Amino acid sequence: MTGDRRFRIAVIPGDGIGAEVIGPCLAVLEGALGRVGGPRLDPEILAAGAGTYLAQGTALPERTLAAARAADAILLGAAGLPDVRYPDGTEIAPQIELRFLLDLYAGIRPIRSIRGVPTPLADQRAAALDFVIVRESTEGLFASHGKGRVRGDAEAEDRLRITRRGTARVSDAALRLARSRKAAGGAGRVTCVDKANVFASMAFFRKVFDERARQFPDLSGDHLYIDAAALEMVRAPWRFDVIVTENMFGDILSDLGAGLIGGMGFAPSADIGDDHAVFQPCHGTAPDIAGSGRANPTAMFLSGAMMLEWLAERHGEPRAAEAASLVRQAVDAVFADGMRTWEIGGTAGIREVTDVVLARIAVTG
Ligand code: ATP
Ligand code: MG
Repeated sequence: MTGDRRFRIAVIPGDGIGAEVIGPCLAVLEGALGRVGGPRLDPEILAAGAGTYLAQGTALPERTLAAARAADAILLGAAGLPDVRYPDGTEIAPQIELRFLLDLYAGIRPIRSIRGVPTPLADQRAAALDFVIVRESTEGLFASHGKGRVRGDAEAEDRLRITRRGTARVSDAALRLARSRKAAGGAGRVTCVDKANVFASMAFFRKVFDERARQFPDLSGDHLYIDAAALEMVRAPWRFDVIVTENMFGDILSDLGAGLIGGMGFAPSADIGDDHAVFQPCHGTAPDIAGSGRANPTAMFLSGAMMLEWLAERHGEPRAAEAASLVRQAVDAVFADGMRTWEIGGTAGIREVTDVVLARIAVTG
């Protein structure tokens, strides 16, 4: 292994605060990689999103898609603006298109508390959450995006389709994740969240999950209906290890999870397939704070750390994983030391958080 290995990163800044937090994220990743003498990044900046749609008539240009396919990983800020829409009235969402075009079937959303960041729950245990939501990302209701049918002014319809292939592969991804977490002291449990009592599609999702879970006898599998899962995530979220669920349920539970750990500014995500992966914060473009410098870049930094970890595993580059934990440690340390971002009542914006995290990386390890 040599220190001169380079990873090609397709960087899609997107719109609003997405485009504001991505440069700082690259600086933090490069800082951490430099600190551990790890591989270098070759970022290529690519256009996509609402601004691109206005300028070029397409939200995801061919050139961007081709470069994303050719890259080792894709880093995305956030894209879309409420007042820029496709002719059918839906929002510009190249991130959703990428999931389908690159077959990114597993949406990984870690819900991990950062000490010092307030949680809305009073119970002490809520200050140390560490679980992961795995969201199926290529089918379910979201596969109807752009294909919904409106009949006059009388009715509208979207389709919810679940397949064996789609459910088996996301179940396997969740089970493998639970297995690797177990090796590091995790509970080794995957909770399948569905609505099997009402929908044929959901009963099928549960059946296929159960079949896959039997292939992992070292783990335990259990089930919750989506409504009960929402209750449990507020009542006793510390009981979860890995959750696997359908696309739209995962969308909703991810935001609920983000709320438990301080809000969207703290929630990273990865959309992973067999051949490609996109890393982006869970938040959107936040037009209300865009341009003010007040956005919290933490979710973006942690998404970048997930990218380094994924690259490390895929390419056998342990130093990229060391850099990822360096980023996480630095983030944890600066909040533990009292730094507070705007949305949690402090004054630190993009610039300050970046500077403080970079400074911490420079003295850690
Ligand atoms: P999307 O449709 O892409 O999910 P959204 O409409 O759900 O987007 P977000 O942009 O995710 O909205 O965020 C909702 C609100 O949360 C924002 O308007 C903003 O006030 C706040 N917010 C989101 N991300 C951040 C951040 N990184 N830092 C600070 N505040 C944020
Ligand atoms: Mg949202």
